[in-house]
Amino acid sequence: MAYDCIIVGGGHAGACAALAAVEAGCTRVLVVEKAPKEWIGGNGYFTAGAHRTVHGGLQDLLPIVRNVSAEQAQAIDMQPYTAEDFTNDIMRLGGSQSDPVLVKTLVDESRGAIEWLARKVEVPFILSFHRQAYQVNGRQKFWGGLALSVEDGGKGLIKADFAALEKMGIEIWFDSPAIKLSTTDGTVSGVVVRRNGQEFSLTAAAVVLAAGGYESSPELRAKHLGSEWEKAHVRGTPYNTGDGFSMAQDIGAKLVGDWKGCHSTCWDANAPANSGDRERSNQLTKSGYPLGIMVNVKGERFVDEGEDFRNYTYAKFGRQILLQPDGCAFQVWSAEAIRLLRKEEYGDEIVEKIIASTIEELADKLQEKGLQDKESFLQTVRRYNTAVHHHRAEHPDLVWNPAIKDGLSTQSSKASLALPKSNWALPLDKAPFLAVKVACGITFTFGGLGIDPDTAGVISKQMGKPIKGLFCTGEMIGGLYYGNYPGGSGLTAGTVFGRKAGREAAKLAGH
Ligand SMILES: Cc1cc2nc3c(=O)[nH]c(=O)nc-3n(C[C@H](O)[C@H](O)[C@H](O)COP(=O)(O)OP(=O)(O)OC[C@H]3O[C@@H](n4cnc5c(N)ncnc54)[C@H](O)[C@@H]3O)c2cc1C
Repeated sequence: MAYDCIIVGGGHAGACAALAAVEAGCTRVLVVEKAPKEWIGGNGYFTAGAHRTVHGGLQDLLPIVRNVSAEQAQAIDMQPYTAEDFTNDIMRLGGSQSDPVLVKTLVDESRGAIEWLARKVEVPFILSFHRQAYQVNGRQKFWGGLALSVEDGGKGLIKADFAALEKMGIEIWFDSPAIKLSTTDGTVSGVVVRRNGQEFSLTAAAVVLAAGGYESSPELRAKHLGSEWEKAHVRGTPYNTGDGFSMAQDIGAKLVGDWKGCHSTCWDANAPANSGDRERSNQLTKSGYPLGIMVNVKGERFVDEGEDFRNYTYAKFGRQILLQPDGCAFQVWSAEAIRLLRKEEYGDEIVEKIIASTIEELADKLQEKGLQDKESFLQTVRRYNTAVHHHRAEHPDLVWNPAIKDGLSTQSSKASLALPKSNWALPLDKAPFLAVKVACGITFTFGGLGIDPDTAGVISKQMGKPIKGLFCTGEMIGGLYYGNYPGGSGLTAGTVFGRKAGREAAKLAGH
């Protein structure tokens, strides 16, 4: 059977490409998905549903969100997030290495993509009060450029995607990995799929690769990221093993971007190693470190926990944990901060909590969990507290405020730490004390295929121009992120380039 368009990979990006293809006139669209149906939705299922987009502030977003009453809206403070802000965030975090045209396309088309998701796909967007706002003086203050999420996070997103696919009559084959691209005279003409132990050669006017990165393959992680990455915990689907890249490379596609880089976060050290947990999904993330400190098993801090808003540090701190002795660390807070930790990540039933009424008692308990140098830990806390108190004495005007970069740090004329905590430095001096053990969770990889930003067409290594009939979206795109990543950009990118791929597929199919 000949298809108009075959999409390889049924995550969020693939779903967007399929929906866009049908919207643009394709009638025979097939999604082939390697995973069984129980693993529906790829990494998209595990997300918090956070979507980064250019927006004009609260009034711009209110019409598309479902969880804000007129009365609640009166008590929200939200700055617009401009194209310049979004561009600067990607460029700043990526050390200006990101492909500027690709970034411009993502940024300029982000708001339209969100509108499309809300109206056409009926994604139930909400304002992310619980993750992206703090209550300050009775007002909800949004911070970090990221305001939109989805009801029930990634689970809600994937539910909406697949309801839309079903409504549009799009065929989906689960348990059906694509294994090879077919070409005719240099044009991609279909894909070979393994299903029920048999190989099927399917033909199509266009193939869209949306098969995710290589984060779930320990071998490829070791090869590209370094041998220590074999130990990383996989945060999402176990099926993203880089198949799309090898298939594309076999027909001469160009690899671009940061092949040594990936998105990795602070992750529950007790979580499964080789895949995410479909029940707790994103709740295994442990992103409360800006409110406290992190120490390694030697009892030493190793990052500036208050360097920037969490949205701009969380994707690089996983690597820092992996590089520590034993590849793990402890996050530590005292009373003042504990009440601000989000229940979804730090609830009693979600994470193993190590609680103590003195810092010495906490050190003893941490030893049972792998802390190797109790004295060093106690000294780290003492020095940190001294530095915080000196800074406060020198800056009595500064007020602790997690919704802004409050400047409450460890660096003053009297005492400075070799490794500062630059914002939100609260002393660790009031009981109870709490710690949780964290490891490195790998989310997705940054290296990918070169694409034409206008069409999402995959670039040929030899010709330097798109390979006819082949498109790409989502995690498989290279050149967008280097070393770090502004939270919530991945889902948006999947939609922006998935829509393009779907539209171009329809053109090739003659619609
Ligand atoms: C825990 C977690 C939280 C996250 N939170 C957010 C967030 O809040 N906001 C955000 O923007 N991003 C978030 N991300 C990143 C986000 O998930 C990705 O950017 C996005 O889902 C990528 O979509 P995708 O469709 O390219 O990949 P995926 O959703 O991973 O889909 C790829 C699909 O391809 C399939 N596949 C692989 N090989 C083959 C093959 N050979 N044949 C057929 N199918 C194949 C896989 O089984 C998979 O279903 C998070 C990721 C994780 C893991």
